[in-house]
Amino acid sequence: MSSTHNTLIAVDMDEVLTETAKWLLKFHDYKFFGKILKYEWITNYRFQEIPWYTDASKEYALTYFVEYINSAESKDTEIVLWAKEKLENLKKIWYRFVVITGRAINVETATRAYLEKYYPNIFEEVYFCAYDTPNQKDKYTVCQELGITTIIEDHLANSIKYAQQGIEVILLDKPRNQDYNPQIHKHITKVKSWDEITIQKSTIK
Ligand SMILES: [Mg+2]
Repeated sequence: MSSTHNTLIAVDMDEVLTETAKWLLKFHDYKFFGKILKYEWITNYRFQEIPWYTDASKEYALTYFVEYINSAESKDTEIVLWAKEKLENLKKIWYRFVVITGRAINVETATRAYLEKYYPNIFEEVYFCAYDTPNQKDKYTVCQELGITTIIEDHLANSIKYAQQGIEVILLDKPRNQDYNPQIHKHITKVKSWDEITIQKSTIK
């Protein structure tokens, strides 16, 4: 079968491919806006929306993130367990992959370099959705443009939107998606880790 007929799957970057939050906190000495912040307390990826930290602005939070991603230290950010092995296996049997990230192009060079280093020859393209900037694009729009019907994510609120628009979501378990309920959240399958992921052929159009 020609590779152009193989199913294309979208993969989120932060927390799905790379342990950004843990290493970002370490880089900033486990402080955000002058206060201690622990990984387990990250109930929202927009740190400025976590109770206690709401004095911080959106701009502060973006700079905090960008500074880390563009630092030398971020090159060593740990990859998410089993992600590479699972992607390689899925690629062998049927699937093709692209990264769709909320990151913006001000971290494009570092992002592409990271993916080339830790996930060589796995992704066909990287799409930057520039969340919280004037150029923000919805991940769903990118999925729609590319004909993608499955996305691997860690953000529950976003996943609910994709699922409502007909995309199958595989949700990686994280401290901030504990509100997931399989009875309510149809078309979202939660997994503990990458090694639990199976992609049903029924999701293929
Ligand atoms: Mg993420």
